[in-house]
Amino acid sequence: MNLAFLGIQGSGKGTQAGLLKKKYGFEHVNIGELLRSHMARKTLLGLKITSYMEQGDLVPDNYIFTVLEDKLHKNSHGLIFDGFPRTINQAEYMEEKIPVAYAVFFDLDDKIAIERITSRRVCSNCGRVYNLILNPPKEDMKCDHCGGQLIQRNDDHEAAIKRRLNIFHNRTKPVIAFFEERDCLIKIDASQSPEQIHKILIKEINLEK
Ligand code: AMP
Repeated sequence: MNLAFLGIQGSGKGTQAGLLKKKYGFEHVNIGELLRSHMARKTLLGLKITSYMEQGDLVPDNYIFTVLEDKLHKNSHGLIFDGFPRTINQAEYMEEKIPVAYAVFFDLDDKIAIERITSRRVCSNCGRVYNLILNPPKEDMKCDHCGGQLIQRNDDHEAAIKRRLNIFHNRTKPVIAFFEERDCLIKIDASQSPEQIHKILIKEINLEK
């Protein structure tokens, strides 16, 4: 079963994908992370997408599809697309190439999202995500897991956050309607705790045992 996770930054898509991966063996396809890895490795694609990413703009579809191609040939029994599709064009691509059983919309108020994103820090070594208020590291600005330095993502500054929220409302909201029309949309109130959301999610997608 393939799933698409939709929602503004800070709505907990990555956390929920991580929980499903651990418990049920889904593969977590985190588009933002795949793009950041190209930037870190300074690949040709990485150099081309840097300015879009840092300003909080959408990366053009042709680059997104190139990154995804790699994943589509894998013989996996369940993929979770985290942050894809974000445009109608991407949703149509998904419908044709990698249909999903459900699209899950993690619905969160912009104000709460901004608070969550500005207190988000990531480990510069292993990529683990922390929240300085809800889930702080044990030692000041050091990763509990590997001891790496915690840093703020380059696109987690105010201007880029606002831009990403605008893009979500203008370009990604129609994608939610797209899945609703096809009767495969699950909408979840993302202001709840990760544990509550996880319980609702496994019930909605029939993974409860
Ligand atoms: P995220 O890690 O999901 O917050 O994504 C970080 C950035 O990657 C976004 O602000 C975009 O610049 C880019 N990005 C991620 N997913 C997509 C997508 N589906 N389409 C276009 N750009 C994307």
